[in-house]
Amino acid sequence: MVIKGTTKLLGVIGYPVEHSFSPLMHNAAIAHLNADYAYLPFPIHPDNLKAALDGFAAMGLRGFNITIPHKQSILPLLDEVSEVAQAMGAVNTVWRKDDCWHGTNTDAVGFLAPLKSLDKNWAELPAMVLGNGGAARAVVAACAQLGCPEIWVVGRSPHKLAQFIESWKASPDIAARLRSVNWSQMDDYLPKAGLAVNATPMGMHPQVAASPLSEQQVGLMGEGAIAYDLIYTPRPTLFLQQASDVGAIAIDGLEMLVQQGAAALEIWLGQPAPVEIMRQTLLDYLSERHPRSR
Ligand code: NAP
Repeated sequence: MVIKGTTKLLGVIGYPVEHSFSPLMHNAAIAHLNADYAYLPFPIHPDNLKAALDGFAAMGLRGFNITIPHKQSILPLLDEVSEVAQAMGAVNTVWRKDDCWHGTNTDAVGFLAPLKSLDKNWAELPAMVLGNGGAARAVVAACAQLGCPEIWVVGRSPHKLAQFIESWKASPDIAARLRSVNWSQMDDYLPKAGLAVNATPMGMHPQVAASPLSEQQVGLMGEGAIAYDLIYTPRPTLFLQQASDVGAIAIDGLEMLVQQGAAALEIWLGQPAPVEIMRQTLLDYLSERHPRSR
């Protein structure tokens, strides 16, 4: 990749942003496509979000991804927000068009990608989502899109859980599927869940011995149920190891990361993203940093 006078800028904003794999993945894709772009990390303090957006407009930045803590607070600063991002209350991809900032959310598309190849009758499969933070919002929107008849959101804080459920009121199709489940009630629901998603950090490197479910609870999942962990370090997590042992289908978060990035790149560049290059770049990097991952 050669930076020239004509090179157009993309990036990711967050605070902190140092942990983000997006610069690595996107610059590999840009180099492969020989596109005249560069993708940079921008640590933006929450107090400076509006100033950053104005600065990006002045600099002619073409677009950017958004990570914690700006996914929600950016909404009122954008000129147009897609329906899916409005329903989720979170934006992860922004682009500049006709002197306006447009935003959407590609996390649900990313989450769905590895599920699409499975031959499942989603209308008969309730989904269980562990956690009620930012990523759980994408999972809920995606499960509703799949057609899961019920979506059980499991949280450890009844107050936060109630707020989470309440926040979907403006999307009646999604709200009608949602049920809140306390952490202590989980065992009653696990045997009926077609899909159980870990949307908490439990089990993420370096806490590799942690899992959102005990071995016994994983055993409650039916054979052929899907265990989906949004975490991608380590590969596999303890949750997914245990789920595989009881005959569940195990999916980790790497493909979600790749596919949400690919969907964003396609918006910015207007051409298909080199998904295989993006995936392999991350796999190579992760196996260097976490040699025990597979
Ligand atoms: P977040 O907004 O901080 O939410 C985390 C959720 O997990 C909260 O509901 C939190 O509960 C719950 N939680 C944390 N520790 C817990 C514990 N010990 N017991 C029970 N619940 C616990 O984080 P996020 O952005 O949603 O991310 C969640 C996970 O998804 C992270 O591991 C992240 O790396 C992963 N992720 C992956 C992708 C991908 O592309 N693969 C994308 C986004 C996120 P409280 O609210 O009660 O604290």
